Amino acid sequence: MSYLTAQNVSKSYGSNVALSPLDLSLERGELVTLLGPSGCGKTTLLRIVAGFNPPTTGRVLLDGRDLTPLPAAKRRMGMVFQAYSLFPNLNAEDNVRFGLKVRGESSSETARRVDALFDLIGLQDARKRYPHQLSGGQQQRVALARALAPQPDVLLLDEPLSALDAQVRLNLRDEIRRVQRETGTTTLFVTHDQEEALAISDRVVVMEKGAIAQLGTPEDIYRRPASAFVAEFVGTANGLDARVLDAAQGLVTVDGWPHPVQVDAARSFQNGAPLRLYLRPEELRLTPAEDAHGLTGEITDRRFLGSITRLSVRVGGSVLAVDLQGNEASAHPTGQRVQVHLGPLAAHVLRA
Ligand code: ATP
Repeated sequence: MSYLTAQNVSKSYGSNVALSPLDLSLERGELVTLLGPSGCGKTTLLRIVAGFNPPTTGRVLLDGRDLTPLPAAKRRMGMVFQAYSLFPNLNAEDNVRFGLKVRGESSSETARRVDALFDLIGLQDARKRYPHQLSGGQQQRVALARALAPQPDVLLLDEPLSALDAQVRLNLRDEIRRVQRETGTTTLFVTHDQEEALAISDRVVVMEKGAIAQLGTPEDIYRRPASAFVAEFVGTANGLDARVLDAAQGLVTVDGWPHPVQVDAARSFQNGAPLRLYLRPEELRLTPAEDAHGLTGEITDRRFLGSITRLSVRVGGSVLAVDLQGNEASAHPTGQRVQVHLGPLAAHVLRA
C-alpha cells in the first residue's frame, strides 16, 4: 500500500475538464514531480491533494486513511508556493515559528526546532530579517523551513523556483532535494521545467491536457518517452518523420535525407511502417566529411552554451541539433561539411 494516493481523482469546472480521472501513488519519502505545460492540470491536482479544492470524483488517501472530507488545515501538509508567501510583517524566525505555534509546541521545543530548521536551510544569520530584506532565494528557503516546521506528512511545492534567477534557482533546487532527503518528507513538486523535474525527482509524472501522459523515473522519461508529446516536451530535440526500409537490418529512411540510416530500435517494426524518429543531440558525433556516402551535412550555426556547444547541422531537408563538448566543438566551424554518426543511444523510435 502506497503512502499517498490519489484514486480516480478528476476535476471539472462546468463543461471544462481540468483533470480527467487519474490514479497516482507516492511511496513514503519519495519526491514526485508533476511536469507539464501551462494548463495541463498540475496545480489542480496539487490543490486537490492539499485540500484547497474538492475533487469532482475520487479520493485522496494518506497511509490508507481517506483525507477527502478533511479541510486543508487538518491534513498535515506543508506547502510552498511560487513566491511572496511569507507574512510580510513577521521576520524570518517568526515566520518559521508560526508553523510551530499552530501546533502548540512548548517554547523550549519551539526554540530547538526553529534553530534546527535555520541550520537545515543555512540561514542562521538572516533570522531577524523581514521578508523585504531577504532575496527571493532566501525567502523561498524560509518558506520551505516554515512548511517543514510542523513536521508535515507531505510537502507540496508549487513551482517554488520559477520566480528566481537562473543560478539561485539551480542552487535552491539542489538544496530542496537535500532537505527533502534529510527530512525524508514525502513530496509532490509542480514544475513546467523539464530539466528541473529530471534533476530533482525520484519519479516524474508528465501531464498532458489533464491526464497522465507518462509516469517513470527521470531516466525512463528521458530515454524511453512513451509518446511524441513526452519526447518533445522532455526536450529530446530532433524529431523526424521516417519510415522503416528494412526491419531485419534496422534500416530507416528519413524524409528528405539522401541515405537510409541504421536504427536498431526499428527492427521491431514492419517494413514500411511510418515512424517518428528522435535523435538525441548529445549522442550524435561529427567527423569532417571525406566521402559523400554517409550521412553528410553542413554546419549552419553554433551556439556556445558553456559546458557544451550546440551546433545546427543541415542534413537534407532537416536541421539537426548536435551538442558537443568544448574541444570537440572547436574542430567544427560554421560552414564545415561533416558526416553525422549516430551513437548507440542516439535514436528513440515511436510509431507515427
Ligand atoms: P500553470 O502551469 O499555468 O499553472 P497548470 O498545469 O497548473 O498550469 P491548472 O492551473 O491546473 O494548470 O489548470 C488546468 C485547467 O483548468 C486549465 O484549463 C485552467 O484554465 C482550468 N481551471 C483551473 N482553475 C479553474 C477555475 N477555478 N475555473 C475554471 N477553470 C479552471
